[in-house]
Amino acid sequence: MKKSHKLPPWLSGSLIVGAFGALLWLERRRPLRHSSIEPKLTRDARNLAVAALGAAALQIAERPVVELLTQLVERRKWGLLKRVRLPLWLEVTLAVALLDYTLYLWHVLTHRAPCLWRFHVAHHADLEMDTSTALRFHFGELALSVPWRAAQVAVIGVSPLALSVWQTLVLLSIMFHHSNVRLPVETETWLNRFVVTPRMHGIHHSNVTEESNSNWSSGLTVWDWLHGTLRLNVPQDEVVIGVPTYREPEEVGLVKVLEMPFVEQRQVWQLPNESVPVRAAVLVAADHLLP
Ligand SMILES: [Zn+2]
Repeated sequence: MKKSHKLPPWLSGSLIVGAFGALLWLERRRPLRHSSIEPKLTRDARNLAVAALGAAALQIAERPVVELLTQLVERRKWGLLKRVRLPLWLEVTLAVALLDYTLYLWHVLTHRAPCLWRFHVAHHADLEMDTSTALRFHFGELALSVPWRAAQVAVIGVSPLALSVWQTLVLLSIMFHHSNVRLPVETETWLNRFVVTPRMHGIHHSNVTEESNSNWSSGLTVWDWLHGTLRLNVPQDEVVIGVPTYREPEEVGLVKVLEMPFVEQRQVWQLPNESVPVRAAVLVAADHLLP
């Protein structure tokens, strides 16, 4: 395969649809967190509606810009990886790793910059977390990420092939670590040395601020490890998914989620009674994943 070619859409498409179906099946058979705040079908339908608008934003705002840039990178040898002649496999591997690292940085920014957080909160306000949450990103967040994505491609030197490989892998990874699938804790601990797993990302979706400000990686775990932002020691049964200010299903309906960035922002990390969720110290003594 040449660098100027993309992965065949049928291949990415069937991997993604197959993984989505397999995860939904596993979530029914072996759920990780048990919660029944809302009927699953209602949540799934809402998340897929948010996802459809997000997909439209990517088609309209991201695809034309970013795909054109990858072609220019290939033709004019732009970016870090084009300064050296690398074998195809190595160039694609490095591009995927650097895209993954710079996505980590983007994710930190979406939490730290108030103008981005008001969009990213629509993702975190889901009262439960499963494979459908993986696709629930506000179309505004996706549109705002276009300049970042363009810079990633131009600076790293991402070919059309590398971009399509990364897009497929990151989507598979995001679906996997948002899924509500209970893996044996030993298996997950082993996997977690390399990639982000459901328990690890569950901690990122916790309503405790310090826990949400950890585990920002989307693919490889190493970025959180290097930055000292890896947190594994919270028992999954103790995690309350979501942000403290939105606790009622009526507050996170489809229209409310879509208008979230455009209305007056609440004190997100405060519960409705104005207290702030904290974790009892006794629960956080370990430094590894807990059942
Ligand atoms: Zn986040």
